[in-house]
Amino acid sequence: MYGLNELQKDLEILSAQGAEIFDIGYTLLGRPIPCIFKGSKNGGQTLLHASIHAREWVTTPLVVEMMKNYSGDGGVWCVPMVNIDGVLLVQNGLDSVQEQSLKNFLLKVNGGNSDFSLWKANARAVDLNVNFNALWGEGSQNVTYPSPANYIGQYPFSEYENIALRSLTERVQPSVTLSYHAKGNVIYRGFGCIDGDTECARRISQSTGYPLLSSYGSAGGYKDWYVATTQKLGLTVEVGDENVEYSKLVDYLPQIYQRNADVLNIATECAQK
Ligand SMILES: [Zn+2]
Repeated sequence: MYGLNELQKDLEILSAQGAEIFDIGYTLLGRPIPCIFKGSKNGGQTLLHASIHAREWVTTPLVVEMMKNYSGDGGVWCVPMVNIDGVLLVQNGLDSVQEQSLKNFLLKVNGGNSDFSLWKANARAVDLNVNFNALWGEGSQNVTYPSPANYIGQYPFSEYENIALRSLTERVQPSVTLSYHAKGNVIYRGFGCIDGDTECARRISQSTGYPLLSSYGSAGGYKDWYVATTQKLGLTVEVGDENVEYSKLVDYLPQIYQRNADVLNIATECAQK
């Protein structure tokens, strides 16, 4: 398992390597959300994030490994665990929550099941990746009530985690963004008919071996919002074999890393041109 303690140890290692580590805001339950920066702040920037969906926490050790091994000049900003409260709920169940009324609420939303291993949402039962302001509420699987997955929230950007990610994005104004998810071994690009830098998308697809798909019907995601507001290149990278259970994906981390080993080099090159 790779949780918040493991992440904190890795952040210390990254800091010792010379990376900048800072917080971009707080989760609903008050946990600081860390960000890693490496490279130069001059020229086009790359921004990536992981674990916006709780059960997809394998993406955190993946992007941390990518950041540890990155030594290029292009600036890279990485938010390795956006949905910390959700990840801890998946990994530690209701023990990760202090307040009894919140425990009761989460248990009820989870259908009375104390196993939260398939939870995607945050600690308010909002699915963060359908809460961005891009065709908000128009996704085919969206629901309008608290749920382990797919609840759009009361309004776009209702969630602290997303406000923090939006602020960082607006400050950095990245030329390329990568949203790491699991699973399926595919890359989704663009939003509606906006594609961004298709040559760069193809290079990342070739390097990873993940086929590039258009995400027609996608709504309310970070990538959707970023592409809609900037017309730049935003990719959602879905790592891991579809047939492997979420909790077992971490056993395949070395193979998953291998496929993604060159992604930051390609993305930063694209961002800087
Ligand atoms: Zn996801």
